Amino acid sequence: MSFCSCGALMVPKKTENGLVHMHCPSCGKILAPGVKNNSKLFEIKHTIRHNELEKTVIIENPNEVETMPFTNVTCKKCGNNEAVYWQVQTRSADEAPTTFYRCKKCGNTWRDYG
Ligand SMILES: [Zn+2]
Ligand SMILES: [Zn+2]
Repeated sequence: MSFCSCGALMVPKKTENGLVHMHCPSCGKILAPGVKNNSKLFEIKHTIRHNELEKTVIIENPNEVETMPFTNVTCKKCGNNEAVYWQVQTRSADEAPTTFYRCKKCGNTWRDYG
């Protein structure tokens, strides 16, 4: 794992030429050079909520959650108790990062401010 200078966990992001760069979902910084490793790749998409200045990370390919760490947390949608998780620094660096969870069974994604 690598962390951006802003404190967020950087994630692999595929570029148009097939290379994978480490990309910061919080500030958008990209760490070059990329590493060619398609098997470990998962596509990350982020959208900005302008009213909150927060960003939500969505993993577009649910099959790739197998490569991510998971924890025991109950999915409110299907009741499954295993979900992968990752953290994103959504505000200033001195605030706790937001933890996102994605249910391994149904793919339900939610966040936790804890
Ligand atoms: Zn950053
Ligand atoms: Zn679920």
